[in-house]
Amino acid sequence: MLRMDRIVIKSRREMDLMRAAGRVVVSVLDALGEIIQPGLPTAELDRRADELIRAAGGVALFRGVRNPQAKVPFPACVCVSVNEEVVHGIPGKRVLAEGDIVSVDCGVRLKGYCGDAARTYAVGRIDRESQRLLDVTRAALDIAVEQTRPGRVWSEVARLMQRCVEEAGFGVVREFVGHGIGQQMHEEPKVPNYYDRSQRGADFDLRPGTTIAVEPMVTAGKPDVVLADAVGWTVVSRDGSRAAHFEHTLAVTEHGVEVLTDGN
Ligand code: MG
Ligand code: MG
Repeated sequence: MLRMDRIVIKSRREMDLMRAAGRVVVSVLDALGEIIQPGLPTAELDRRADELIRAAGGVALFRGVRNPQAKVPFPACVCVSVNEEVVHGIPGKRVLAEGDIVSVDCGVRLKGYCGDAARTYAVGRIDRESQRLLDVTRAALDIAVEQTRPGRVWSEVARLMQRCVEEAGFGVVREFVGHGIGQQMHEEPKVPNYYDRSQRGADFDLRPGTTIAVEPMVTAGKPDVVLADAVGWTVVSRDGSRAAHFEHTLAVTEHGVEVLTDGN
């Protein structure tokens, strides 16, 4: 049985409002891409993102988020995860170094609707394996954009994303997945980047008006992750391998799919 009961179907107007929020997210990610370089403290990324989101009249979605494993609400407006950090890194005093890779995840609510996207950036020159990790993770997200269409079930798309990653010799993180999105950052359904028997009861139809944040998280080694910091936020790969994270907010339409975080 497909779980459709709790998925909130959006109208054209609501998708357009989500696209407006997505535009703010893209402006932040573009601006941060311009300033990322060796020597930059990660706190500076948060400061700049905060400034841009406020100026646009938006609200940063991540600040204040609670999680049962964390001792404090998330203290920043973007997640900044460096090298072996997979997601939910807290920006701070760490200084970016030549050859690092840095993932920035940004969510914004504007006029009551949310947009959510992430990118992994190279800091200066990176090694070939890190570049391949970025390319493959982005390719997995591109597959989701190409393959999402009305009339399909999500598992068909997830399988293709997983194959892309695993054929490259990389790992698909299981513990963290994408999500429905709309008036809330996290809505039903869960949107995994893999498919196995454990997911059988959780598949869902891609119906027009379904809006989802698709976010492959990929490790260069094994896919297992652990919590790293003392406050219970930063997720790292268990084997210390580097990780990449790309995300778009997508809307299924009558005709196919729209990327609500493409900046248009
Ligand atoms: Mg995100
Ligand atoms: Mg997300």
